[in-house]
Amino acid sequence: MTELYPIQMKQLAAIIGGRIYRGSPRKAIRSAIQYSSKYVRPGVVFFLDPKKIKNMAAVMRNLRATRAGCIVVPAGWEHRIPAGHAVIRVSDPFVAALKLAKWQYVQCHQPMVIGVTGSCGKSTTKEMIASILMQKYRTLKSWANNNVFSCIPSHFFRLRPSHQVVVLEMGMANFGNIRSQCLFSKPSIGIITNVGRAHAGKLGSSVENVARAKQEMIDGLRPGGIIVLNADDPGTRKLSLRRFQGKVVTFGIYRPANVRAQNIRFTRKGISFEVNSTPYFIPVWGTHNVYNALAAIAVGRLMKVPTESIRRGLRSFTPPPMRLQPLRGINGHTLINDAYNANPDSMIAGLKVLKKIGAGRTTVAVLGDMSELGRLTESGHREVGREVARLQISYLFTIGPRARSIAAAAKEAGMPGSRIRSFSSGMSLVNHLRHNLPAGSVLYFKASRSMKLEQCIKPLRLR
Ligand code: ATP
Repeated sequence: MTELYPIQMKQLAAIIGGRIYRGSPRKAIRSAIQYSSKYVRPGVVFFLDPKKIKNMAAVMRNLRATRAGCIVVPAGWEHRIPAGHAVIRVSDPFVAALKLAKWQYVQCHQPMVIGVTGSCGKSTTKEMIASILMQKYRTLKSWANNNVFSCIPSHFFRLRPSHQVVVLEMGMANFGNIRSQCLFSKPSIGIITNVGRAHAGKLGSSVENVARAKQEMIDGLRPGGIIVLNADDPGTRKLSLRRFQGKVVTFGIYRPANVRAQNIRFTRKGISFEVNSTPYFIPVWGTHNVYNALAAIAVGRLMKVPTESIRRGLRSFTPPPMRLQPLRGINGHTLINDAYNANPDSMIAGLKVLKKIGAGRTTVAVLGDMSELGRLTESGHREVGREVARLQISYLFTIGPRARSIAAAAKEAGMPGSRIRSFSSGMSLVNHLRHNLPAGSVLYFKASRSMKLEQCIKPLRLR
C-alpha cells in the first residue's frame, strides 16, 4: 500500500490553492495538524486560522519555540510568522485545511464513512460502533467529543491508506451543521440515536426544529445510503423518509424493530440482553445504553461483522469518561459521575439508573443547571423535578439558579421539603454532602458542561 507522505511543499501549495511565501518548494511535508501549535515540528504543516484562535500569544510563543514547520496563513499574516518556519499564504486557512483533508481522503482510497448524530448518546454510540468494527476492519474514529464541522479536517488528517472505515460523530448547534459535515464526508451509513431537546434553545425551542436539523443526516447520505433509526423514540417519528431512497434499519425495545432487545437484565457490572436469542453484554448502566448498543449492533450487522465479534466489541467497549462513570467515594458512598453534559432527556435517563443501582440504599440526586434549552428551560427543569419525586429518590440537591426549578417541581410533586436543598456555591454543596448523608449512599451527579460539576465530585472521591 502506498504511503501518503512525505509530499513536497510545492505539491501541498497546489493541493490547498496557496502560494509559497517563504521556504523551499522541495521541503518535505510529513503530516498536518489543525489546532494545536504545540505539535508543530519539522515536516508538520499547521493551519493558522486567526478566526478560530483564542490565545494568539500562546500560538506565537509555541511557534517561536519550534522551527522548520510549515505554517498556512491568511493574507496579511505571512510576516508575523517567526523566522525558521516555511509559510504558505491562502485566502482562508479553514478552506485550505478542508482541501488537504479531502486530498488525504482520496489518497487513502476513500474509505466508507459512518456518521452518528442524535440528541443524546452520540459519543457512546460512536465508541460502541468503533469497538465493534475494529474487530474486523482498520477503523478510524473521530476523537473525543470533537463533533462539529470545524473539526472535520483534524479527523481526516489522521487517516492512513490502511484505514477501511471512518466513524464520525456529528453534533449540531444549529441548522446546516450536520449538512456541512455530510456534504464533506458523504456517509454511507447514518445513525440518528434519538431526537430530543438537546440544543433546542438555538433552534426555536422546539423538537420539530431539532428533527429538521437531524433530517440533514438523512438527506446528506450517499445515494443508496442506509439510515439507522430508533423505533421507540417519539422525536424520531418527526423525521421524514418521504424522499429517502435508501434503506431504513430500525432498533428498539418496545416496538417492532429490525434489531430488538429482549430479556434485558441489569447487573452490578453492566447490562445483558438478547437480540434474536443471541446474548450480549455491555459494561455500562442505563437502558439508554441498550439503545446505543442496539444501534451499534445494527451497524455491525450491516458491515457484516461476525456475531461473535460484535459481542466481543460490545463487551470490551470503554465508555467515554464522565458518562455514568462509577467511582468509589468517601464514607462507603458510590459516586456516579454523569457530569459530562445534560439535557432533560439524558438527566431523566440517568435518574432511572440511580434508582436501579441504588435499590436498597440511600439515593441522592445532585443536579445542576441545564443550558441551551431556550424557551424549554423552565419546563425541562420542572419535568426533571417531577421525575425525581416520581422515582422516590431519597435526597435532591441542586446547584445553580435554573436548577432551583427542579427542586420546586419535586416539592410540588410530593417529595418532602426536608429532603430537598438548593445551593448556589459548589463549596457549600460539597460540605453538605460530606457530612449529612448516611454511609454507603449512592450519589448521582449531572449538569450541563458549563457547570463543571465534576469539581464537586473530586473532594468526595476515595483517594
Ligand atoms: P453531547 O452532545 O453532549 O456530546 P452525546 O450525544 O455525545 O452528548 P454521550 O456523550 O454519549 O452523548 O452521553 C451523554 C449523556 O447522555 C450520558 O451521560 C447519558 O446520561 C446520556 N445518554 C447517552 N445515551 C443516551 C440515550 N440513548 N438516550 C438518552 N440519554 C442518553
